[in-house]
Amino acid sequence: MSDCLFCKIIAGDIPSSKVYEDEQIFVFKDISPKAAVHLLVIPKIHIVSLDNLTPEHQTLITHMMLKLPELARSQGLDDGFRTIINTGPGGGQEVGHLHMHILGGKGMPGFN
Ligand code: AMP
Ligand code: ZN
Repeated sequence: MSDCLFCKIIAGDIPSSKVYEDEQIFVFKDISPKAAVHLLVIPKIHIVSLDNLTPEHQTLITHMMLKLPELARSQGLDDGFRTIINTGPGGGQEVGHLHMHILGGKGMPGFN
């Protein structure tokens, strides 16, 4: 999608701090980190949110989930991490391109 911020980041039109990339996903540091480690894991294809998934995305979503622990460990999060997926305005989603947040380390906010 031409007017999507995260599609522009994948294309390299907007700079980002890339951590990992493969044929299906792109991973970069959140520009406004809520903890010492705050990554965003996004699919290279434009999917708006979890609300827009179809069965054909099953392999992609599984790939994203399976990568999370490896990505967290690569940032030094050896004793665990938090994963957040905001969906739609009611879920606090601000960017309309599906993304999984990985958070951990110092300064991680409480959940309650
Ligand atoms: P959400 O509220 O779940 O939609 O999260 C969107 C996230 O994208 C927020 O944590 C923002 O800080 C982050 N963000 C927005 N613009 C950028 C950018 N240009 N580079 C990296 N992260 C960004
Ligand atoms: Zn997009």
